[in-house]
Amino acid sequence: MAENRDPYEVLGVSKDASAAEIKKAYRKLSKKYHPDLNKEPGAEEKFKEVNEAYEILSDPQKKAQYDQYGSTGGQQGFGGGAGGFGGFGDFGDFGGGGAGGFEDIFSSFFGGGSSSRSRNAPRQGRDLQYEMTLTFEEAIFGKKTSIEYTRNAVCKTCGGSGAKKGTSVDTCSKCNGTGVIQAARQTPLGRVMTQQECDVCHGKGKIIKEKCTTCGGEGITREKHKVEVNIPAGVEDGNQMRLQGQGEAGENDGPYGDLYIVFNVKPSKTFERDGSEIFFNLPISFVQATLGDEVMVKTVHGDVKMKIPAGTQTGTIFRLRGKGAPKLRSDGNGDQHVTVQVQTPKTLNQKQREALKSFAEASGEKVTGEESFFEKLKKRKKR
Ligand code: ZN
Ligand code: ZN
Repeated sequence: MAENRDPYEVLGVSKDASAAEIKKAYRKLSKKYHPDLNKEPGAEEKFKEVNEAYEILSDPQKKAQYDQYGSTGGQQGFGGGAGGFGGFGDFGDFGGGGAGGFEDIFSSFFGGGSSSRSRNAPRQGRDLQYEMTLTFEEAIFGKKTSIEYTRNAVCKTCGGSGAKKGTSVDTCSKCNGTGVIQAARQTPLGRVMTQQECDVCHGKGKIIKEKCTTCGGEGITREKHKVEVNIPAGVEDGNQMRLQGQGEAGENDGPYGDLYIVFNVKPSKTFERDGSEIFFNLPISFVQATLGDEVMVKTVHGDVKMKIPAGTQTGTIFRLRGKGAPKLRSDGNGDQHVTVQVQTPKTLNQKQREALKSFAEASGEKVTGEESFFEKLKKRKKR
């Protein structure tokens, strides 16, 4: 399991690697295995593992603990530090669809243990999800934009303490700051000791004498939060992007959760797309198909000249190399596949009709055909 792996080994760094080296290795690997970018099986597991390893090695206290004991005392809840990456445990598919929107954010996962010992331990804030609708072209070429949403944030007035400026926060004397008290309960099986939420501090472990007026003593306020988003070129419908620390404020000084942006890409009227490959239908006349021609073909990169060889059959697919969408995981573009659709004319004027009749004659073909209006007229006059 992930918890048992050596974080140094996971990040591929030596035991005496510097913080900068650790960070660099983490950045590289988290990008490599990011679920937005890497859809290979096992990538998500690796991503979690890399995050867990970095969580230990980026925290001096945890790192020291690991170096000394070879463990940080479990990932969940208690054990000091940032409250674990428990949120990733349930990390799954968000499903692409649905309309986007400003308030279209819901809190998703919540990590951390539920044991009473950990209730006052720092816990990472909740992750948020934001649905963003992109046009077909925006998804292909990427976009720099900013989004604004409401989230729970650390109160700026009191810095999260919940106490009015100049006043102090005391440790609850009844529970000694643990937030829980032991209580004896009489049951048919005898006396049972149970843990209960401290009734003096309501489980917070601390007593605020004078509450901060901004947050009412909660230490957290709702705020409008604006984030710059740099959408990479080549994202697809249903892809998601993680913005670390842009979720909600943590509890007990825990870090912020993350924001997941889920992309909803609008279809194009002109093109179809599958990954980096783009598909396009090109109607041509039967004369172009027969004699060959050079035509201009629409691509997302602008019009491109394409040769149609003489004798092209309907349904033939031509490939325009590099004219597809950018590849998200590597360099370069995919291709555009052009399917030729030979059009049969629905109406003919007399000249066209005669030309086709002589074409048939020249091919030794006997085509009766439908009589044209003019021919019918001619026949009627002769009678
Ligand atoms: Zn406050
Ligand atoms: Zn208490």
